[in-house]
Formats: sequence, structure tokens, C-alpha cells
Amino acid sequence: MKLLRGLGIGLLHVPILALPWRPLTWRHGIAFVVGYLLVAFALGGGLHRYFAHRAFRTSRAFQLLLGVLAAAYFADPIGFAGRHRHHHRWADTERDLVGPHHGVWAAWIGHLLADDFRERELGGATADLRRYPELVWLHRWSLVPGLAAVGLVWLVAGYTVLAVAYCLPLCLLGVHGISAVNYVCHRFGPRRFPTPDHSTNHPVLGVLLLGEGWHNNHHRFPGSARCGLRWWELDIVYQCIRLLSAVGLVWAVREIPRRPRVAIGRSRLVARADLTP
Ligand SMILES: [Zn+2]
Ligand SMILES: [Zn+2]
Repeated sequence: MKLLRGLGIGLLHVPILALPWRPLTWRHGIAFVVGYLLVAFALGGGLHRYFAHRAFRTSRAFQLLLGVLAAAYFADPIGFAGRHRHHHRWADTERDLVGPHHGVWAAWIGHLLADDFRERELGGATADLRRYPELVWLHRWSLVPGLAAVGLVWLVAGYTVLAVAYCLPLCLLGVHGISAVNYVCHRFGPRRFPTPDHSTNHPVLGVLLLGEGWHNNHHRFPGSARCGLRWWELDIVYQCIRLLSAVGLVWAVREIPRRPRVAIGRSRLVARADLTP
């Protein structure tokens, strides 16, 4: 499995490296923007804020759509949620699997290849998601949606569109974007809240990842659908969730309380409580 994942990450970069030799038009530019927004929402809104943190509610059909989209791009909901909840629980300690504690390689690529998070641990951390057989199926066959998406886009739209609308956004946001949050947003940047971990808000990643880089805000309020707290903290993922809420596709969107009643010093307790939907 480790070898397969490594091969997949390597192959993902090949069409991108060939792009300078391909004829590009404005249509490819639009395809890239659409792909970028889709990947950003599948990862930030779907995998992270919905499946890992249950920051809003939705129908079973839309949940499945989000799960398939997420698995087609990056990871299955159960696998991602289990690892991510573990990260929040043990952030910046010896047990953290994805933070910078074990070095830049482990935080950047190593965590994508690692097999050290056992199914038994995963099961305990994701009981709420395992109630759905379709999500369990996606977890078992997690490579199928991605392979199907690559085949479909290649067949229907061609190799160049595959490169600009699938591979490039996925590399930028999935492989390197999430890794940058794991490493950079636990090392560099200002901290608004004195959380028990070393999480930071990184303005560049905040903008590039459409809201996911306000990581210190997120570690303080992990159950909130909103990561950017100030007007200048761009959070497009949150705005998409609000839009979906306005049209009735999602509901019960969890927000940060205007006056948090729980003391900042107890934020680890808040985080753990929030991770048990
Ligand atoms: Zn973190
Ligand atoms: Zn999180």
C-alpha cells in the first residue's frame, strides 16, 4: 500500500511537468480554476470541516457525494477523519503523526505514505462515520474513485485538461497544501490563541488554501465551520458552506460563539469534546 501511494503521488506530478510543452488556452485556465475550487472544497469543506469535525449537517445523499468527491481527489472520509482527529488530540506531541514533531519529511510526504495508524485505532476514532456502509465501502476501496476520476477526465476531456484541472490543483492543495499546513502552520506565523499545541495562523496559506491556513483559529475552535475570524481572513470554504446552507443542501452550520464562555486555557478539553460528534 505504501508503495502504491508513493507511486500515485509520483505519477500525479508527471502530467504537470509536461505542461510547458502542451498548447494551453483560456479554456484550460477556466478548467484549472474550477478544479482548484472543487479540490479546495472537497478537502477543506468535505474531508476536513464535515467528515473530520462534523461542523455542519447534511443529507445522506449529499454526504455520499462529498465522500466520493473527497475520495476521488485525495482520501476517503474514514481514513482522513481518523488521522485528523488523532492529530487534534495529540498535536505537537510525540504521538502526533502528521505535525512537524518528527521532521519535515514526516510532515510533508511521510504521513501520506505511513501505515502506522492501525485500523483498530481508526475504528474507535470514526465510529460515527462507520455507521454508513457506503463510507465503509469507500474506505475499503479508497483508490477506486481516484482511478475512475482520472480515467473519466482523461477519456472525456483529454490529457491536458487532466493535468490542469485534476493533477495540478490536487498537487498544490492536496499533496503540498495539506502538508504545508501540517508543517508550516505548526512552526511559522502568529498565534492568536494560546492553544496547548504550536498551531499558527499563516496568511499566505490562509489565502492560497481558501481558508485552511488559519490553523491556530481552527485548533482553538475545531468544531466550527468557520476558520477565518476577522473580515480580512479570507475563508472561501466557509462562504461555500454558507451558500450551500442558503440553498438547503446543508444545515446546522456550527459557528464560533460570539463570546466564548470556555476559558482559552481549557481549549484542549474543548477540542476533545468537539471531536466526539
Ligand atoms: Zn494542526
Ligand atoms: Zn482540523
